[in-house]
Amino acid sequence: MNRAAFLVGRWLLGDSYRKSALPIHTNSFYTTSKKCFWNSNKKLTFIRAISRSTLTMAAYREEPPCFIVKNRTRFLRYFSETKDANLATSIDVLLKEDLEKYLETQPSSVRAWLHSNSFVPFKGKETKWIAVPSQNFPGKIEKLVLVLGDGMSFGGARWMGFAVLPSSAPAGLYKLGFVSERAHEHGFTSTRAAFAWALGCYSFPVYKGANEAKNNTSSVADISPDPAFLPVFIWPMDCDKSLVESCASATFLVRDMISTPAEDMGPAGIENTARLLAEEYSGASVRSIVDEDLIKENFPQVYMVGRGASQKHRARVIELVAGDPNHPTVCLLGKGVSFDSGGLDIKPASGMRLMKKDMGGAAHALGLASMVLSSKLPIHLRVIISAVENAVDGESYRPGDILKARNGLTTEVGNTDAEGRLILADALVYACEFSPQLVVDFATLTGAARVALGTDVAVFFSNDEQFAEKLEQAARQVDDPVWRLPLYCGYRPQLDSKFADLRNIGEGGAAGYGGSIVAALYLQEFVNRSIPWIHFDIMAYNIASKPGKPEGGEAMGMRAVHRLLEDKFSSSSRSEMI
Ligand SMILES: [Zn+2]
Repeated sequence: MNRAAFLVGRWLLGDSYRKSALPIHTNSFYTTSKKCFWNSNKKLTFIRAISRSTLTMAAYREEPPCFIVKNRTRFLRYFSETKDANLATSIDVLLKEDLEKYLETQPSSVRAWLHSNSFVPFKGKETKWIAVPSQNFPGKIEKLVLVLGDGMSFGGARWMGFAVLPSSAPAGLYKLGFVSERAHEHGFTSTRAAFAWALGCYSFPVYKGANEAKNNTSSVADISPDPAFLPVFIWPMDCDKSLVESCASATFLVRDMISTPAEDMGPAGIENTARLLAEEYSGASVRSIVDEDLIKENFPQVYMVGRGASQKHRARVIELVAGDPNHPTVCLLGKGVSFDSGGLDIKPASGMRLMKKDMGGAAHALGLASMVLSSKLPIHLRVIISAVENAVDGESYRPGDILKARNGLTTEVGNTDAEGRLILADALVYACEFSPQLVVDFATLTGAARVALGTDVAVFFSNDEQFAEKLEQAARQVDDPVWRLPLYCGYRPQLDSKFADLRNIGEGGAAGYGGSIVAALYLQEFVNRSIPWIHFDIMAYNIASKPGKPEGGEAMGMRAVHRLLEDKFSSSSRSEMI
């Protein structure tokens, strides 16, 4: 054993291991709760991990799927239920144009303070706030004055500027104060304020040993809010709290899943996340079809794409079913490529660096499922996730191989890096077998979609005009930007093959152009034309941090689809929207 390996081993077996192991064996949650059934052999996992030199954090601490599902409401630490708001600091919300009029209503001390701190005249386009000191209680803050920026960082959603506060305001108890007429006109509501506040609380603590409280407690969300240490926001009276909790916890789940490294969020990690989530909703059940059973149950393309992965990351189809079968069936599909090396057509280092995010579609399907289930929409929900690792191995599928999909169509592999469409094809055929009212799939499918619309705007395709229009309308209502691209049949001949029914990438003169459309056209071959279908081609990742949108995994288009489902299938209308 070399010295480095010795030191790593000693570190793991030493204090770090003992400290982290302690709660596992003293806290009954870990040993008796079936929620964490696969955590009970923690020691075995640890020993195996050492012997295989896969020294991941998860090997000796709570597994990420368990942490993620339990702690997706951790933003609640930054909220208070108190009715006694007398001691809370008000947050006044206005636009730049309101400042002059607002100051006329304020005492001279406030005017002087804002002028002397160069807050007035207001410069710049970004959201800014200033703390106004109390006249009566020296050292205390009287209120915060928040001026919402032009919202350009948020695609024009000015209300999202409220998300700057949790990470920048001093610890204390806050409440919503005066809100200007113009701020309301630009979409600011107390529900949106609470949602923006929740998103502003996000960080990814799973691997930060000293961060948050996970070493000493089973759940961060269990800790009560403490204004002595954190900025804590009192839920506004007229706020749709359940909607905020549902949207924010789904967003946290999606972000956490995507940001978790591929070693810990492989196909099995995605399945465990689905199982833990399903246990929280009565009537929800999960089954999985793993490895060679995929052949028996006719998911041959999922099997072939995932064949090169190690035993630990065996390919699978994960199916979560919930809701009353008498309600309309909606299928949510997700591309769950837990890591995409490109396969034998291997990616360059720069193209592979972020490929832990290639299961972003699966994360979106589960996040959206949690929103549908928590808002009790009258839908019979079927989530279908194709989960594989696209690995390089002697068992990997090859360029030139001809694969047969669930519906019998054959595909010649032009490039093993176009694997997402292959595994989604089986899932789409399977989904259509249930004659659903709607099929929505989410996939981090092509770089071409990012070239076309950048990283923020979710590209979507649809074979149904009515659903497409309703989705665009829903996206505008909730400020979740989407843009439709066409299923332009003129590019379909690019997918013709001399040896099979189809090819998985375009080849020939126009190949390389319109890649997102060509991928969508491939998927369309596996959708029953009479079934409404929406296909998302998304980035699922923030490449740089903005307030409320830190670098890392991100949910895109998810709130828009939830709004669409509410609009289409719910009998009760919701007045608040986020
Ligand atoms: Zn790929």
